Amino acid sequence: MKKYVKNPEVVEAIRFSTNNEPGDTQMNRIVTWLRTNGIIAAHNGTDVVIDLPSGKALLVSVGDWILIRGDGTVYIATNQYFESHFYECLHEWEPVEDENYDHCLICRATRPAQDQSCNDYI
Ligand SMILES: [Zn+2]
Repeated sequence: MKKYVKNPEVVEAIRFSTNNEPGDTQMNRIVTWLRTNGIIAAHNGTDVVIDLPSGKALLVSVGDWILIRGDGTVYIATNQYFESHFYECLHEWEPVEDENYDHCLICRATRPAQDQSCNDYI
């Protein structure tokens, strides 16, 4: 029988780690990141609240991870789930032909070519 591998899913994510900072620094950063990605979000000083397209509101508690999939959908994961299913991309850089930047073969992130070092390529 043939073997099949499920493609690893690449997400952008941040752990909501504190709601106890002067000026709500992390919560403001999370809400700005979500809004930049077209997601309606706010915080009330304690929790982050995300409005889903379905009309349902998602309440994010301290300790949870907020993830944005490649298709722009957002979801929440507990720290236990996140740590057992995701790892930070270690980037495998490949030059993009005729462009002065590299891209990561795994997550598709880009970086300027001048940041290359000679041992980067696999
Ligand atoms: Zn990467």
